Amino acid sequence: MSKLIVQDLSITFGGVKALESVSFVIEPETTYALIGPNGAGKSTVFNLISRLYSPEKGKIQYGEYDLLDYEAHQISSLGIARTFQNIELFENATVLQNLLVGRHRLISRNIFKEVLFLPSEYESQRAQRLAVERIMDLLDLQYLRYELIRNLPYGARKNIEIARALCSEPNLLLLDEPASGLNPEETDDLAFWLDDIRSELGVTLVMIEHDMGLVNRMADWVLVLDNGKLLTEGTPEEVRSNNQVQAAYLGGAT
Ligand code: ADP
Ligand code: MG
Repeated sequence: MSKLIVQDLSITFGGVKALESVSFVIEPETTYALIGPNGAGKSTVFNLISRLYSPEKGKIQYGEYDLLDYEAHQISSLGIARTFQNIELFENATVLQNLLVGRHRLISRNIFKEVLFLPSEYESQRAQRLAVERIMDLLDLQYLRYELIRNLPYGARKNIEIARALCSEPNLLLLDEPASGLNPEETDDLAFWLDDIRSELGVTLVMIEHDMGLVNRMADWVLVLDNGKLLTEGTPEEVRSNNQVQAAYLGGAT
């Protein structure tokens, strides 16, 4: 299991410093929450780790890999997966098809063998299906398998996006506001699923989240961003009682 080390990360958009010398460490098999007011730079951190953006300055090390040597499409093969603040699924495909797309990196790795040996191709396809079935079982998605994404309610789509990310068998999963738009009952279901993801798959979670109830329940460690800078970090209790954190949230509330 690999450690993620973010060091001195900075990025500017049109003169606005979105992140300024941000450093933190993500230890394996620990659950982190990344919190902060809107515009603090939280999604930008994920966009940098997943290599959609390149930093002006800084380093992102994941285990033995310097992530800045890799491109966005290679990141999942290093064991990192993510979801987006705005759900990104294939609307006109079924749940099952979307999840099989999530297996893509694991399918294509064996493409040579699959083309040459039919029996093992069959075995491989069977293995892909079994892996997807396991994720569908874990997140209670079996009953939706042949539904088109566009016909599904928002809560189900959020869950399916997490399922698709898990299909690439990540060690590190980055969740951008998994509870946003969910009602309390759906948020409760989410917390149970995230617990299962941790305990059954051993995945390290980093979640950007505004729902402090969920943060307090799930997170071992909380990172607080404000205005592009890491304001503080600590246990949920430590962060909750931090005056600077309270001020940042009050200042951001308009
Ligand atoms: P958060 O997720 O904490 O709400 P973001 O990381 O999305 O905040 O954004 C941080 C700042 O960077 C904001 O001022 C936002 O407008 C800016 N920003 C993020 N991505 C881009 C982009 N691709 N182009 C221009 N500005 C951006
Ligand atoms: Mg965001």
